[in-house]
Amino acid sequence: MARETKNLIIAECEICRKKHFLAVESNHLVTTMEWPPKRTTVRVEYCCPLISKTATYSLDFEGVVEGVEVVSLTLNEGGEKVFQYGSNCSAERLNSMGRLGGAAIPSGIAETVEEYQLQFDVWSEGNNCAAADMVKTQGKKVWGVLYEIPGDFVRGKRDDKRKTLQQIEGKSYEAIRICLRDTCGIEQRATTFVAREKDRRGGIKTSLEYVRHIVTGLREQAVRNEYIEELKKTAAENNPEIKRAIEAL
Ligand SMILES: [Zn+2]
Repeated sequence: MARETKNLIIAECEICRKKHFLAVESNHLVTTMEWPPKRTTVRVEYCCPLISKTATYSLDFEGVVEGVEVVSLTLNEGGEKVFQYGSNCSAERLNSMGRLGGAAIPSGIAETVEEYQLQFDVWSEGNNCAAADMVKTQGKKVWGVLYEIPGDFVRGKRDDKRKTLQQIEGKSYEAIRICLRDTCGIEQRATTFVAREKDRRGGIKTSLEYVRHIVTGLREQAVRNEYIEELKKTAAENNPEIKRAIEAL
């Protein structure tokens, strides 16, 4: 029996009519392979973070679950769509304590509408290797993960144990707005972080650990394998010493 955490969005709170981010934990009892899958509908109680009154919310689960428990709830008035294409494609990594600590809700995968290529051309102190960047390149597209993140987790500094994306990305990156196309073909605008022109460098190498985070994240979110193989090729060209290990990922 697996204990699972699920991040959800309450589109409109019945008490304050605002949007909230909700994380619930549950025991997954049965996973069905039937189609349509069996569903469990659960009404959970939560305390509205704005008005501090009890409210209920109805949740649908695929399969059979029990022991559903609300573990966190955030008010989100300034939620922002953010596109991540590097190691933060892994929602587990991005939502770990010391990073966003559960504030990011994955909302599907998307590719850039404009032509970009992923490159390892910016030094990351935190990862101690060359990190991912997107550079305009004809004939190429970058795939990544769209997240919905409260504004106070995107920019500025936090004084709790969590960080904003700006703090995680560091001084070498800047936020830009770009246009993405999701898997339904719908175009949407989002914020993403790319390396500042003055911080782009040649001859620096990425690491196996860093590439593993990207590959894990892209697989977690079911980005098609052809793109993942292409990314591994780019990484191996950047650091031929770890080519074999990258190919084995
Ligand atoms: Zn509320």
